[in-house]
Amino acid sequence: MDKGRILQRLQNILSISPPMKKVFMTKVTVDEKRNQIREFLTKLFIETFGDDPNIPPMEYVLRRDSITTFRKILMKRSEKLSGFSFIEYINDLIHNPEKEGLENPDPGFFAELEHMLKGIMGKTGIYPEKAPAFAKYEGTKAARLRSADLSRLSRYAHKFIDFYPCGLDSDIKRRNIANKARILKYFGATELEWENWKWHTRHIIRDAKTLRSLLELTDEEYKAVSIAEKSKIPFGITPYYLSLMDNDPENVNAYVVRAQVIPSLHYVNSLLEYKKSSETSMDFMLERDTSPIEGITRRYPMIAILKPILTCPQICVYCQRNWEIEDVYSLKAVLSKEKLENAIKWIAETPELTEILITGGDPFLLPNQKIEHMLFKLSRIPHIKRIRLGTRTPITLPQRITDSLVRDINHFHHPGKREILIVTHVEHPLEITPQVMNAVQKFRSFGMDVYNQMVYTFYNSRRFEAVVLRDKLRLIGITPYYTFNTKGKDETYDFRVPIPRLLQEQKEEARLVPGTVRTDEIVFNVPGLGKNYLRATQHHDVISILPSGYRVYEFHPWEKKLALANTYVYTDVSVYDYMQRLKSIGEDLQDYKTIWYYY
Ligand code: SF4
Repeated sequence: MDKGRILQRLQNILSISPPMKKVFMTKVTVDEKRNQIREFLTKLFIETFGDDPNIPPMEYVLRRDSITTFRKILMKRSEKLSGFSFIEYINDLIHNPEKEGLENPDPGFFAELEHMLKGIMGKTGIYPEKAPAFAKYEGTKAARLRSADLSRLSRYAHKFIDFYPCGLDSDIKRRNIANKARILKYFGATELEWENWKWHTRHIIRDAKTLRSLLELTDEEYKAVSIAEKSKIPFGITPYYLSLMDNDPENVNAYVVRAQVIPSLHYVNSLLEYKKSSETSMDFMLERDTSPIEGITRRYPMIAILKPILTCPQICVYCQRNWEIEDVYSLKAVLSKEKLENAIKWIAETPELTEILITGGDPFLLPNQKIEHMLFKLSRIPHIKRIRLGTRTPITLPQRITDSLVRDINHFHHPGKREILIVTHVEHPLEITPQVMNAVQKFRSFGMDVYNQMVYTFYNSRRFEAVVLRDKLRLIGITPYYTFNTKGKDETYDFRVPIPRLLQEQKEEARLVPGTVRTDEIVFNVPGLGKNYLRATQHHDVISILPSGYRVYEFHPWEKKLALANTYVYTDVSVYDYMQRLKSIGEDLQDYKTIWYYY
């Protein structure tokens, strides 16, 4: 876009707020503009809460949020933290367009500015002008009208909910059985072997050629897997998980399962670049800085993570520990006996801990005997009251959940004394199959709870998609526990969803289902510090919007009222780009229009 068109576009957007446009167009200093805009916003804020009759009902909430956010963006502290001055940038675009190094704004920048100004001026147009009819009545009449409104809202939700398939649907079950037959035929294996988890680990599909013999691949998928294979980027798919994939890559929902494990070209190419520079740059969660001893990670006062093995039967493309995992299901990835003993000794010598999360990698790749030994050692430590086992094998390799494994684990589950619980990782309703349900029921029948941690990625972020997942999880006995923002690493750009979408999902979609189902907490995992609860807006601030349309956030440490710790500055992905991607897969952007007003 040339400078003239940029100016024209900017002026059009600023016209949403004539008083602000006037300030921006005058030739005073940036600081003077900052002061004048602040004064205007303060006056508007006071008027809003003084019951301004010009503001349609509820618009005042959006105005409050937009003004608050804009004021934070204007702060010098925000500019220092983000390394960017939003107000100076707009000023330069208007008065100093030839300034050296001045970036052109992306469409995402214009979109953010436009929505912010609409929010400030009470012009979002989100709310219908007419108040709901039930508010005018009382008693049964009001209740009936309200009930009709609620039914309408439920029908609206079901328009989406009914669209998403689940692995328990009869047609999907039939398709998966046919896939299984095809895979068994390819390997010349039997049904009995299919039920043996070790057969699956021996036949993990690790190369593009075999994968193409078993599944119709797009050119990009084939190329990306070939690069992964050649460059030793961990890649593998269990035959079981492969049986969940639709053979037609063009099928509307095929990509949601494939994307969990088949990397994109962007992913493999970025990983190659990273590998060339240094491994540490991939350690987004700063695990190295939170590991007091090999095999242990600690970010909280009472919980520590024990990592006895650093591999999984297949590697999730968005895995935060991909920098540590060298290969899929590799025996070299097991922590040595001596290191494991030292890690457990460290736990025993740290009496402040009450809970241990055993994860990795996936601890269920270890032999039963080793798992039992580890649990035995931990159960001898009096201060450990709870042991969590973090595993995705119930989803990628449900055959691993044998009766003997469950019995061996249950041995240490003593109600009233010590709790053993399972934390698994289901990403999509298509992963919920009869096999997964049976695996979960085995734990449940022994009184052990099973929880789910979902990573909220592009591939499960369509309207009400996560609602369907939570619902099916509850139906098979899994409690939704955490929903994580995808880690902010370049290689996972394809997966990342802007924070406003997580907030929108919680407030508009999860909110429609009963509290027994929406039990998960949405979190941003702050590197080196731990979880920031996103739903509480007082724990994070938008501090800037970059020319790319990316919002910059400042996250507060979870312990901020207990102890001093640094805040964390994070650049999110662009809301505009995310919306364009949704559009490219056939989503109606009108359904997401409120996203701009979540901060
Ligand atoms: S199951 Fe967990 S540890 Fe294993 S690859 Fe997936 S995200 Fe990473």
